[in-house]
Amino acid sequence: MRFGANVSIARGILGAISQAEKTGCQCFQIFSRNPRGRGERKISKEEIKQFKINLKNDHFLVHFNLHSPYYLNLASPDEKKWQYFISVLVKDLKKCEVLGSKFLVLHVGHHMGKGIDWGIKRVVQAIKKAFQKSKSKTFLLLENMAGQGTEMGFRFQQLAKIIQLSAISHKRLAICFDTCHAFAAGYDLRDKKALDRTLKEFDNIIGLKYLKLLHGNDSKKDLGSRIDRHEHIGHGKIGIEGFRALVNHPKLKHLDLIIETPHFGKVNWDRKNLKILRSLIRQ
Ligand SMILES: [Zn+2]
Repeated sequence: MRFGANVSIARGILGAISQAEKTGCQCFQIFSRNPRGRGERKISKEEIKQFKINLKNDHFLVHFNLHSPYYLNLASPDEKKWQYFISVLVKDLKKCEVLGSKFLVLHVGHHMGKGIDWGIKRVVQAIKKAFQKSKSKTFLLLENMAGQGTEMGFRFQQLAKIIQLSAISHKRLAICFDTCHAFAAGYDLRDKKALDRTLKEFDNIIGLKYLKLLHGNDSKKDLGSRIDRHEHIGHGKIGIEGFRALVNHPKLKHLDLIIETPHFGKVNWDRKNLKILRSLIRQ
């Protein structure tokens, strides 16, 4: 298993690589654009060229993925916003191809009171449109969510349904599994037994072959709380034994794991968390 972190694009995509190197990442994730505010910082051809050269020079960092911005809601009932979000997805799928990322991670979205069945159909429609327009070869990774408010994608059944209904694009749809979100949604991960049960359920409902990426985050909140609060590895309710089981699990060994744990002060917390994860690997 390779370990990496979500690194900032505040200093551009080249700044992201140096941050990943400083942090001791073996893989990394960047946002496709400013995650919270609208608008997009253009990436120049020169930057893209240099980005690829820098990646090649650091043999660890060839594995990276993009993450869609948080505001993107493919289930939005507002027609104008919905069309805009689809256009963002199309651009970001293309950006993945240009930069050489195999994966774009996507939060499933909020149904805003319209109900889960309605919301899922809306998301499927949006995904189909985006793939038709972009003709992208990128894998769109649906991320399992905690289930806050009207957020969808917190039950494995909901993710499976999106994959099934998106018939045209299903070969380009897969899953990014977030440990904090899964735990908050009620899937236990606290030890080997619990992890085995959760993975079995995942396999029965979605299929493990769809699992392409891990987000490794501990959870500040309890099992089934449906509240999404990330915590440092081993310091939350999943705990160190849960992560020991995760990083050594034979069915997950081939995957990359990205941490999205909290940042504060001048300490490089990502570096610390990655060190903890590496120490858990059984030789
Ligand atoms: Zn995410």
